[in-house]
Amino acid sequence: MSINTLDILRLNVSIADRQILKDFSLTLPKGQVHAIMGPNGTGKSTLAKALAGHPDYTVTSGQALLDGEELIGQEPDAIARAGLFMAFQYPNEIPGVSIANFIRAALVARQPKGQLSDAKAYYARLYGKMDALKIDRKFTARSVNEGFSGGEKKRCEILQMLMLQPKYAVLDETDSGLDIDALRIVADGVNALRGPGIGIVLITHYQRLLEYIVPDVVHVMYDGRIVRSGGKELALELEARGYEWVKTLATAT
Ligand code: ADP
Ligand code: MG
Repeated sequence: MSINTLDILRLNVSIADRQILKDFSLTLPKGQVHAIMGPNGTGKSTLAKALAGHPDYTVTSGQALLDGEELIGQEPDAIARAGLFMAFQYPNEIPGVSIANFIRAALVARQPKGQLSDAKAYYARLYGKMDALKIDRKFTARSVNEGFSGGEKKRCEILQMLMLQPKYAVLDETDSGLDIDALRIVADGVNALRGPGIGIVLITHYQRLLEYIVPDVVHVMYDGRIVRSGGKELALELEARGYEWVKTLATAT
């Protein structure tokens, strides 16, 4: 256990009595970007949702320690306040709540006294990040994700991350549904945030994203656990050999 890591220790997670994560372990030091790749249905999103405290995902055993603080058993808002940010594969629409108010409320909830003094400074910061992500400023008044295209939803997730400046972020297939220009913009946003103060987990199905956000470590996941870890070249090997190869790794471990 360390105060500068996200330590996931032998996590077992079930959905409706079916075990999905099987003794899943991962140590993510702050300052690093780890990619998790793996075939569909292998439990990548289950990992993300279990960490976020989603009530449908039952953690039967194991730990998730954020800088030493146990996340398992905490409510989603407490997990977020502890410093974990989640960008979901399928972001929810929140009708009636504007992006500007949504992010501001999330920031206010992080203040010890529940207040955020300077509205002007807030909007200046928000607009700066929106400009960087090429999100039209008109979007501030729109309800979160309502009627957004797939790419707009993903950029909105990154906007939230840039504004909240979490200690750790898990991005679940943020590349899916993005054309190449949007992918670059999203990657630039992530790369801008990258640094010694944050650890990032990039969940992705494809190697393409990793050309733009170069990971420190690549993990290959299959059937609820990591079956191989390596450097960024592992992503290329995976792409070349295909996911059938992963199954052989799983039986070998
Ligand atoms: P991945 O993100 O790697 O594609 P998931 O974590 O989404 O995989 O899914 C892992 C397994 O859990 C799949 O078999 C999927 O059908 C099942 N699963 C995921 N979420 C639910 C849910 N809410 N209810 C029932 N089964 C689910
Ligand atoms: Mg998924």
